[in-house]
Amino acid sequence: EPQIQLRALRKIYPAKGADVVALDGIDLDVPRGAIHGIVGRSGAGKSTLIRCLTLLERPTSGTVTIDGQELSGLPEAKLRSARRRIGMVFQHVNLLDSRTIAGNVAYPLEIAGVPRAQRASRVAELLELVGLADRADAYPAELSGGQMQRVGIARALATEPAVLLCDEPTSALDSATTRQILGLIRDLRDRLGITVLIITHEMAVVREICDSVTLLGHGKVVEHGALGDVVGKY
Ligand code: ADP
Ligand code: ADP
Repeated sequence: EPQIQLRALRKIYPAKGADVVALDGIDLDVPRGAIHGIVGRSGAGKSTLIRCLTLLERPTSGTVTIDGQELSGLPEAKLRSARRRIGMVFQHVNLLDSRTIAGNVAYPLEIAGVPRAQRASRVAELLELVGLADRADAYPAELSGGQMQRVGIARALATEPAVLLCDEPTSALDSATTRQILGLIRDLRDRLGITVLIITHEMAVVREICDSVTLLGHGKVVEHGALGDVVGKY
């Protein structure tokens, strides 16, 4: 059973004149432990796909199933805990400036109601995992862009998600730092067996890290397949 499964996913934004069909029947299967890329130009529907995948926005029709659970069928009250199965990594990490690195990583655990003693050991483990154990007491302002993204990744992994959803994770980074962060993501997949979905407008990112790729255009799947089969054409 695939870890991420989308079936006939549609999202229509009503508008005066013609409605906007942002997603026009997306089918997607991502197996457990894969690193899958979603690529497309601006306006292709990438952001809408992310919002629908996490049910931040209700799809107009179709289903979203993550880790065997159909999120699109859940009532709002059950979505909050179901979303903990999805770790989100953003282009802009948005750390809390008044909290230390450890405090930022602890934040989702506090929200989830994890007791203090457990939080401390989990945070230490997460910082070790992303190579920032020695920066636990630093503040965000003291970090480089690459270090901030490491914190973002540690924060995303805090609740032990089944899926890591990365939205343009390296678009704000230079090429050397991009390579380091993508290397870290691959390493985490290898060590944790987590399933990774990377949304990007950069084909170079896909080439560097993805096993398989979906090319999105005008809300439709234009191409889908193993990295070599899809990327070779572009
Ligand atoms: P991408 O992230 O690939 O740039 P988006 O998902 O943002 O693409 O947009 C896909 C299409 O849906 C675009 O035509 C965009 O203008 C439209 N769209 C996105 N969000 C909204 C919204 N909230 N209301 C109306 N139209 C939207
Ligand atoms: P953009 O694509 O506009 O540059 P991002 O990819 O950083 O922005 O963020 C996409 C969406 O996720 C935005 O709606 C933003 O408000 C939200 N977001 C970004 N960072 C975080 C965060 N750390 N925690 C929660 N939501 C965030």
